[in-house]
Amino acid sequence: MDTHNTSELRREDSRHHLHPFTDTKELNEKGCRIITKADGIYIYDADGHKILDAMAGLWCVNIGYGRQELVDAAAGQMQELPYYNNFFKTAHPPAIKLAKKLTELAPDHINHVFFTGSGSESNDTVVRMVRRYWQLQGKPEKTVIIGRQNGYHGSTVAGASLGGMAPMHQQGGPMLPDIEHIAQPYWFGEGREMDPQEFGLLAASSLEKKIQQLGVERVAAFIAEPVQGAGGVIIPPASYWPEIQRICDQHGILLIADEVICGFGRLGRWFGSQHFDIKPDLMPIAKGLSSGYLPIGGVLVGDRVADLLIDEGGEFYHGFTYSGHPSCAAVALRNIELLEQERVLEHVRDIAAPYFARRWAELASHPLVGEARSLGLLGALELVADKVTLSRFEPGIGGLCRDICFETGIVMRSVGETMVVSPPLVITEEEIDQLISLARASLDATARRLGIAL
Ligand SMILES: *Cc1c(COP(=O)(O)O)cnc(C)c1O
Repeated sequence: MDTHNTSELRREDSRHHLHPFTDTKELNEKGCRIITKADGIYIYDADGHKILDAMAGLWCVNIGYGRQELVDAAAGQMQELPYYNNFFKTAHPPAIKLAKKLTELAPDHINHVFFTGSGSESNDTVVRMVRRYWQLQGKPEKTVIIGRQNGYHGSTVAGASLGGMAPMHQQGGPMLPDIEHIAQPYWFGEGREMDPQEFGLLAASSLEKKIQQLGVERVAAFIAEPVQGAGGVIIPPASYWPEIQRICDQHGILLIADEVICGFGRLGRWFGSQHFDIKPDLMPIAKGLSSGYLPIGGVLVGDRVADLLIDEGGEFYHGFTYSGHPSCAAVALRNIELLEQERVLEHVRDIAAPYFARRWAELASHPLVGEARSLGLLGALELVADKVTLSRFEPGIGGLCRDICFETGIVMRSVGETMVVSPPLVITEEEIDQLISLARASLDATARRLGIAL
C-alpha cells in the first residue's frame, strides 16, 4: 500500500500546481485536500477520511470507482497498441468498435461520431463543423451560434464562448465572434412569479426573438444542455424543449444538445435528448462516456450534417492527436458494456432515480432550503435565508456549505447558493439513504454556523 507524506505533498502542491477553476492564493493559505483512493461511490483522502462522492468526480464516474474490468481494458489495450492515430487512412479496432457502439445507442438519425479528448474539444469541433456545414450549403454567412446565459460548454476558447458563464467571459478579452446568448429556463431563479409551463414557453421564445433580431440568414445553430449541469442543475419545465425543437425546425437551424453530463445514463436513458424527446443534429459527449477513467470525448453527428460533410466536403481540416485514442476508446467501450450488462440505466430509471427523487424532496422541509429538485440522478437544493419570501443569503454561503459537506463526509458542489449532486449511477437505495443523511447533517451544520435555529 502506497503511503503518502501528506504535508509535503500539500506543500509541493501549493508551490507548483495551478489548479483549474481555483483561487490559488486562497487555496494555498489552507492547502488542498489530497484524494488518494476510491471505491464504489466513496473517495478517501490522505488524512484517512471516507467521503461519499455525490458528484461522481465531476459528473463523470457513472459506473462508480474501482472497476477492475476498466483497468484490465486499459492494460490490455496498452500492451497491444497503446497509441495510434486515425488521421492518414488508418484506424484501429477500439475506435471502430466504439464508433459502431455509440451510433447504435444514439437515435436512428445519428450514424457517425467524431472523436475528441474532452467535452471542450467536442464543442470546439461543433463550432467548426456547424460553420463548415453552412458553408457547404452555400450559406457561408450563417455563422452565428446561439447559446444560453449560464450554460456550460467547456473551458477552451470555443467552449467558454458558447457557454454563458459571465465570470469566464470577463477574464481575458474578447470571446469568439458570432456567438449570442439567450435567457435560461431557470424557473426558481428567474420565473417564480409565473406558472412553470408558461415560463418554459417564455424562455424558449427568447430563441425565436433572437433569430428574428439577427435575421435567420445569419443563424447557424442553437446549443444547449438538456439539463444545465454546471449552471446549477437547472431542469427546464416540460414545455421548454418541445418549443425549442419547433423553433429550430421552423427556422431550419441546427440543434446541438450538449450531452456531456446528461449522456450515458444520468437521466435513465443513454442520452438526455431521448428523455426530452428531441432530435439534435449534433451531440457532444465526454465525461460518462468512459466514466472518467480515461479522457475521451466525441461529437455524435446526425445524417443531415454527416452526409453533406462526407459527400461534398472533401477533407475536413480538423482533428486531434488523441481523436479516438485506442486505450481511451477501449475503456469507453468496456464502460458501455458494463452499463449494459449490469442494466445500470434500468437501475437508474426504475429504482435509483424514483427513490432519490422521493428522498431528495424531503430536504425541502429544511430551514435553509427554498427548493429541492431532481431529475434522474441529478439534484439541486436552493439555499435561502427566508423560506417564505425565498430571499437569498449574501454570496458565499454556498461555498461555506460545500466546505462543511466535505468535513461532514459528502461531496456536494455549490453553484452560487445552489447545492448540486450527481452521484454515480450504481448508487443503491441504502447509499441514497446515506447521501440524504449526510446532506441533511451538512445543512444542519451550515445553519448552526450561521446561527439559524433548527
Ligand atoms: C464538463 C462539460 C463540458 C466540458 O468538458 P471537459 O471535458 O471539461 O472539457 C462541456 N459541456 C458540458 C455540458 C459539461 O458539463
